[in-house]
Amino acid sequence: MKPLPGHPHVARRGDALFIEDVPLSELARQYGTPLYVYSKAAMLSSLAAYQRGFAGRRATICYAMKANSSLAVLQLFARAGCGFDIVSGGELERVLQAGAEPRKVIFSGVGKTRVEMRRALDVGIGCFNVESEAELDVLSDVATQAARVAPVSIRVNPNVDARTHPYISTGLKDNKFGVAHERTLQAYRRAAALPGLRVIGIDCHIGSQITEGSPYLDALDRVLELVEAIEAEGIRLQHIDFGGGLGIDYNGETPPAADALWAELLQRLDARGFGDRHLMVEPGRSLVGNAGVCLAEVLYLKPGEHKNFCIVDAAMNDLPRPAMYEAYHRIEPLERRAGPATRYDVVGPVCESGDWIGRDRDLAVKAGDHVAVLSAGAYCMSMASNYNSRGRAAEILVDGSHTHLIRQREGIADQLRLERLIDS
Ligand SMILES: *Cc1c(COP(=O)(O)O)cnc(C)c1O
Repeated sequence: MKPLPGHPHVARRGDALFIEDVPLSELARQYGTPLYVYSKAAMLSSLAAYQRGFAGRRATICYAMKANSSLAVLQLFARAGCGFDIVSGGELERVLQAGAEPRKVIFSGVGKTRVEMRRALDVGIGCFNVESEAELDVLSDVATQAARVAPVSIRVNPNVDARTHPYISTGLKDNKFGVAHERTLQAYRRAAALPGLRVIGIDCHIGSQITEGSPYLDALDRVLELVEAIEAEGIRLQHIDFGGGLGIDYNGETPPAADALWAELLQRLDARGFGDRHLMVEPGRSLVGNAGVCLAEVLYLKPGEHKNFCIVDAAMNDLPRPAMYEAYHRIEPLERRAGPATRYDVVGPVCESGDWIGRDRDLAVKAGDHVAVLSAGAYCMSMASNYNSRGRAAEILVDGSHTHLIRQREGIADQLRLERLIDS
């Protein structure tokens, strides 16, 4: 048994590729392609690394559900004791459906509407992570009208230096997220004075796919400086939330393990006297990214003068990250063939040149074969669309040798359900 890089629960047994104890080619045959397949054990072991990291501490792990918002995945994390980080009213309804405790739900995002705020107040969510001073005013107003008090944290933008940490994209000054470091105190004073708000915490989220510990340490120092300054004004903060962002191995990256990273961060927190605070984190990608693969069938091989194309039945509507960010996903044939590999651009059927899944990949495949696109558990299905009127793929959750169909393949009736022809 040889696990694939970054995927301890996906392994070769002989020539066949297994996820846990289920051969992937059997799933492709039974359920068709494109098909998302997730490993329950992989999700729980990623979560366990965070749980070990926070053992003995007051801490809440809030799964950032935008990474993968399928109900059964949310249910799994809710049962494992997680809270959730949500960014819309739709996500709120999903976590409630999945059995989340509203008190463990925190609501992030720069553009919350009054309707979303009201609903979140009515169900009793744990905290609003407020991203601007204008939002403080609106939230206080909505809460007052509902005769409620909204628990708030302010998302601060620590402005961690991008030159030393080029992968950080949301913790920089010119970014739309959070309240600027130098305006933070003012924002807290305002929050403390508003009648509909109760200040309970502070949060930051400095970016995504972070592969080293140092940006977190820098952000931690910046946030603790702010905590000291805020509390010096008599505004007590019950929790400190360090956001998500920990990266995964897509193509040889070596991010720290969550427990090792947190051992280091907790040491710094203890040294500065904040180790006994209620700590929160908002991991998304690192909990689900390498727990999932997307299976696709090779439809055609199309040789060209400069490039050869391997056309598969998954496309940018299923796997949007390459088109959006030029992101890399490993691609692994399900059955191994003898014979030389050919260099291909692996592309989908969508009518866009941007519809590619992998470039310059050496593959020994024939039409009718299947491939697994790796690291497809995060920001794939949750970003999938119906572009080109393609139905969204089915999703499978594997648990040992058991297989659960957690989302059916979308049919044309599902796509047309809300549309109407006009009469005249
Ligand atoms: C997206 C997001 C996260 C999760 O980020 P990952 O990189 O998937 O861990 C956490 N917090 C906030 C506010 C986010 O927007």
